[in-house]
Amino acid sequence: MSTERPGSTSLSSLSSDEMERYQAHLSLPGFGPAGQARLRRASVLLVGVGGLGCPAAQYLVAAGIGALTLVDDDIIETTNLQRQVLFGDDDLGRLKVDVAAERLSAINGAVRIESRRERLVGSNARAQVAGHDLVIDGCDNFATRYVVNDACALEALPLVSGSIYRYEGQVALFESPHTPCYRCVFPESPEAETPCHDAGVLGALAGLVGSAMAGEAVQWLANGASALAGRMLLVDTASMRFRNVRLQRAADCALCGASPSIHEPTAVATCAVAR
Ligand SMILES: [Zn+2]
Repeated sequence: MSTERPGSTSLSSLSSDEMERYQAHLSLPGFGPAGQARLRRASVLLVGVGGLGCPAAQYLVAAGIGALTLVDDDIIETTNLQRQVLFGDDDLGRLKVDVAAERLSAINGAVRIESRRERLVGSNARAQVAGHDLVIDGCDNFATRYVVNDACALEALPLVSGSIYRYEGQVALFESPHTPCYRCVFPESPEAETPCHDAGVLGALAGLVGSAMAGEAVQWLANGASALAGRMLLVDTASMRFRNVRLQRAADCALCGASPSIHEPTAVATCAVAR
């Protein structure tokens, strides 16, 4: 957990300003001032500031987490604006982490925001995730998704993982070995079923799934509650059907199984999907 913010009276009590600002959380059953204070001490790493990362970051920051680290090396392009809601016309050509940090600081100046203009890869993944309390993966490609999963499992950090494709999305919380990891569920990249060319994505689906990711992270950090630990939410906005399915640990998982063959974060595929 990160150090206490100046101005707050103690680790567990809230200032009068915080009591007012987060009143709607404080009234929630199972949340209360203690949950809000735990949220304030929490440090989150967000991998990818795209369609999922933008709404996830907005809600995490508005909710009053202590610190948010943004990792992304992309610049803002016209095609991003259909769903990446932290960015607008005047931001084209700028780094996503720079613009996001400005917008997020304007939402809640009390949250410490760090921008890392780099790509999370196998060689730096463990160092990137270390020191955080939870990782949110909103990346746009399977290579990074496996690397983030591996790094979190190896560093024993909870991971909220989300993805979107056309009209469909997924969200899960992985905390191996207490739950399955991403590799338990997808030992081979699902890429073969999801073509590399731009398959399209409903913009509002990114908001729906990204918000669900933030909601899962906030509840986990505030009071340890998770409806998606060991489960996966499946969203289909074409039919507006939502399902929540149980996931199984794989005894032969290459990462968290009985005889693992993966000991460092390892990429499995290279092509991008929409985010
Ligand atoms: Zn596993």
